[in-house]
Amino acid sequence: MNKLQMIYEQAKQRTANGQVASYIPALAAANGDLFAVSLLSAEHEIELGDCTETFTLQSVVKVISFMVAANYHGIKEIMHYVDVEPTGDSFNSIVRLESHNNKPFNPMINAGAITIASLLPGETMFEKVKSVTTFLEQIIGKKVHINNEVYFSEYQSADYNRAIAYILQANGFLKSDVEEALQVYLQLCSISVDVSDLAKLAFYFATNGKESEAICNKGVINIAKALMITCGMYNASGKFAAFIGLPAKSGVSGAIIAVVRNGEIEQLQGPIGIGIYGPAIDQVGNSVAGIEFLMHLSKEYDLFCL
Ligand code: GLN
Repeated sequence: MNKLQMIYEQAKQRTANGQVASYIPALAAANGDLFAVSLLSAEHEIELGDCTETFTLQSVVKVISFMVAANYHGIKEIMHYVDVEPTGDSFNSIVRLESHNNKPFNPMINAGAITIASLLPGETMFEKVKSVTTFLEQIIGKKVHINNEVYFSEYQSADYNRAIAYILQANGFLKSDVEEALQVYLQLCSISVDVSDLAKLAFYFATNGKESEAICNKGVINIAKALMITCGMYNASGKFAAFIGLPAKSGVSGAIIAVVRNGEIEQLQGPIGIGIYGPAIDQVGNSVAGIEFLMHLSKEYDLFCL
């Protein structure tokens, strides 16, 4: 067993310390013992564990929708609607919507992501969702679909997100009506992927979008990476930056993308994208096995890049 496999096996033990997300039945039904990792460089891909599983992107999609909106409107216009400042609050918190001139703090918390959903290019809900799925499809090189069971379940239990959207609307931070913004946001959370798709997505950031069909302004990619470092791992982003030191984004499904700009992990060299799926999550919403894996990986292969 090589060092990488040992790190994987050790991290897998930690699944018992987490719990699958339980706020909707479709996520509560996930098997918390699963743990899958995919690492991708220009030349090789290494897959470990339960890599055939599919799951929903959840908050990982927030990075992509931010890029699509910022690429379309320009970052100056986007910043009239949403800032790039971290908060230490949970992802669906409403407490700060009455501070900061009522502007959402960043696109990685729900308030900012719902605003971004309303700013996506397109006249209809369908077109807005498609602007993001098309961009994602260009990165991962295959069609994606929405998991409707997860989407309907999300939509039926969206009280907090609906409350956030009404406050945003009252303060002039929504470009569409409340229901359309929610539908777009929750459909995007419900995009179905596998861990290899996540690795491709992370690899896109690792290469700054080079050699991909998905064209994005370099400045926007830089801001997306900065947002991942400062706000990507919910209210554990500070600790993640301090102890792991990689741009990363997580979702409550147990998905994580992590970006290595230049490293060496077994036969992989140069820019490396890491995709993780471990549905047992901690109280903040991050995959427990995923965090453990990245912690040891960063240390053992000297990947800390801040
Ligand atoms: N879809 C859920 C929500 O918006 C969770 C997103 C996430 O991964 N935090 O509340």
